[in-house]
Amino acid sequence: MNKIERIKKIKELLIKGNNLKIGSRTFKAFGYQFNYYTKCFGDLNAYYFNDYEVTEMLVPNGLDNRPGIIKDKTLYVCVHDTASAAESAGALAHAKYVTNGGGGTSWHYSCGDDMIYHHIPDNEVAYHAGDGTKVSYHTIDTNVLATTKVPCIEIIDGYFYLNGNKSSVEVPDLTVVKVDDELYYSSCGVIQGKVKDHSIKEGKQQLNLTTLDINDAGINTLIIDGNYHFTPVYYNKSYGFVANRLGNLYSIGIETMVNKGSNLLVTWHKCAKLVAHLLKDNNLCVDAVKPHHYFSGKPCPMTMRYNKMWNYFMSMVEIEFEVLKLLTSDIKITLNTNKKNNGGVLLEEVDNLVSYEVIIESCEIVEKFTLN
Ligand SMILES: [Zn+2]
Repeated sequence: MNKIERIKKIKELLIKGNNLKIGSRTFKAFGYQFNYYTKCFGDLNAYYFNDYEVTEMLVPNGLDNRPGIIKDKTLYVCVHDTASAAESAGALAHAKYVTNGGGGTSWHYSCGDDMIYHHIPDNEVAYHAGDGTKVSYHTIDTNVLATTKVPCIEIIDGYFYLNGNKSSVEVPDLTVVKVDDELYYSSCGVIQGKVKDHSIKEGKQQLNLTTLDINDAGINTLIIDGNYHFTPVYYNKSYGFVANRLGNLYSIGIETMVNKGSNLLVTWHKCAKLVAHLLKDNNLCVDAVKPHHYFSGKPCPMTMRYNKMWNYFMSMVEIEFEVLKLLTSDIKITLNTNKKNNGGVLLEEVDNLVSYEVIIESCEIVEKFTLN
């Protein structure tokens, strides 16, 4: 594709990304300290017009939360939020925390409304997804013929059903096992947390799982030789959901900030741009972007989930990714507006009609257009 065609395509994408309706909206943010309400004034476009910048602040080699395990592949980008509402709990504070050991946890990026920090090289394993590191990538034949790209998955009488057809895959178990005189939960042979309820005995637990126990981001299915295959699933006792493995071992984890006083819309836009770069760098498609919930059933990223912003976030990722694939270093995109904004995210209340100009330019080629 030549440069004129690229610029034309970018223009089409930015027109598609234009938000026809904007207005202030109050989000409820969740933190372990407290919850709070925060008002955002809307965003002009699903595309974020400010530059993307990442500051390296790596966890030192040798700390427990940087095991130095090289991934044999990256399959996912896993999006979290910190669930830390304190005003001081911004990206830098989290960067300091994780580079000082992170209490044994780690993630690859901390993304706030101000900065993005990078902590673990993308090709190394970090501890953020809550699914352990014991299960490597493999696929499981469901013995159900694939008829659609994404099947409808149900649980009936202890088995997975795909598009109404019974598979050969039993639902994951939950077993209580004794290790060094202590009782632990275990699912599909992998140990989870300690059993705290003293009335619970060793052995297989009765779960009676139903379709409602599947995490709401679904189960990973692939089509191999005409059949649906799963990647490993398990039952996460802490959150009570059937979830997918491969989070810690095969994903890049991003913590988004929800600290009071930060602009959540700006944070989500910055995160979407970061995700687009990670998809491109790792040769992934947008299907690879998953909420933490997918790997553990944890309601994370909680603030995005509660405010029903995941789908809009994914539309930001899509446009960022499509534009990024067309951009070359000599193409510049500029936003012009008389409204106070951060990359197109409004920082003041607006009434009625807002117009803004977008300029896409490269040397002699200038494409200028106005959106409302
Ligand atoms: Zn999380």
